[in-house]
Amino acid sequence: MSSIPHCPVTRTVDLLRLAHNLTQVRAYVGDRKIIAVVKANAYGHGALAVSEVLSKQGVAMLGVAHIEEGIALRQGGIKTPILVMTGLFSSAAREMVKHRLTPVISSELELEALRRHLKRSPITVHIKLDTGMGRLGLSSKEAASFIQKTIAADGIHVAGILSHFSCADQEDTIFTRKQLRTFMQVRKTLQKLSPIIPYCHMANSAAIVRFPSAYLDAVRPGLMLYGYVPFSKSVGGLKPVMQVKAKVLSIKTTPAGTPISYGGTFVTKEKTRIAIVAIGYAGGYPRALSNRGVMIAAGKRVPVVGRVCMDMTMLDITEASSLAVGDWVTVMGSEGNVAVWADELATAAETTPYEILCRLGNGN
Ligand SMILES: *Cc1c(COP(=O)(O)O)cnc(C)c1O
Repeated sequence: MSSIPHCPVTRTVDLLRLAHNLTQVRAYVGDRKIIAVVKANAYGHGALAVSEVLSKQGVAMLGVAHIEEGIALRQGGIKTPILVMTGLFSSAAREMVKHRLTPVISSELELEALRRHLKRSPITVHIKLDTGMGRLGLSSKEAASFIQKTIAADGIHVAGILSHFSCADQEDTIFTRKQLRTFMQVRKTLQKLSPIIPYCHMANSAAIVRFPSAYLDAVRPGLMLYGYVPFSKSVGGLKPVMQVKAKVLSIKTTPAGTPISYGGTFVTKEKTRIAIVAIGYAGGYPRALSNRGVMIAAGKRVPVVGRVCMDMTMLDITEASSLAVGDWVTVMGSEGNVAVWADELATAAETTPYEILCRLGNGN
């Protein structure tokens, strides 16, 4: 992706694999509408290129977190409806309309902002319920009357109602089923009150894989599109989309007893070949992978030794002796039949593939 000459880190995004993963989502959900989540620069994959492919493949909407992300997609020529999922500041109401963005609202404050600032220029919104996430959204008690009131407001078209799962990735399904029941109850109440029910959506990647009863009218996959699932059991058919490589800056042979990197947390036990690689935590390689990470050098998996620095990381390449200065090592990706993907790095760094992708994809 990077076109800067001499850049020592490259990120490649395989858009065919992205399209393939969308096909896999469709294999689960059939002809339900798909709201493809491209927030955080498409989880580090490049929001514009990803959105172009997904739009061409016929997704119903794109989901972003913040208004600027939506504006950037419009300026890049994306025509697909865009859902702005973190709500609306009153100062942003007019920009939402101007760029044909669809905010998710969940408060009187936001409804008031739309009424006051739009002076009846029409806008489409979705309304969010908190069914147990404990984040944005109306409580199930407030929901039906708020939705009715918004439907009745001049110039405001309520196109969707949504909620978000907090535990759909966990083995225990009790809480997830409870969230779904709460959402369905609100939908039922609305069915009695209103002639037209806006479309309902709730399922993230975990629910798409594990809860067909949560598909409703539309689904909101993020992580799956990029080739991963949020639990340790892998799911067949998905293909990781992004690979990251970094250049070897220097190689040296050190005698036994040589401390490597800050704090001297790794000391060579014998004569060891060390490669210094041009990526560190500024490039999105987590410092938590100090003495824990693995990269691929000359086709072999080799360990990270010592602390990960801001712009450099050291590898023990004793087993990968053909590696030379200026070669690329695979930070995340595959070479031949060896691979290191975001789920493995996430386990080693005690985090999730989401965070690995966002950091590695959006790093320097
Ligand atoms: C990020 C996000 C999603 C996508 O979640 P994945 O687990 O990546 O599939 C769906 N809905 C909302 C509201 C989100 O914030």
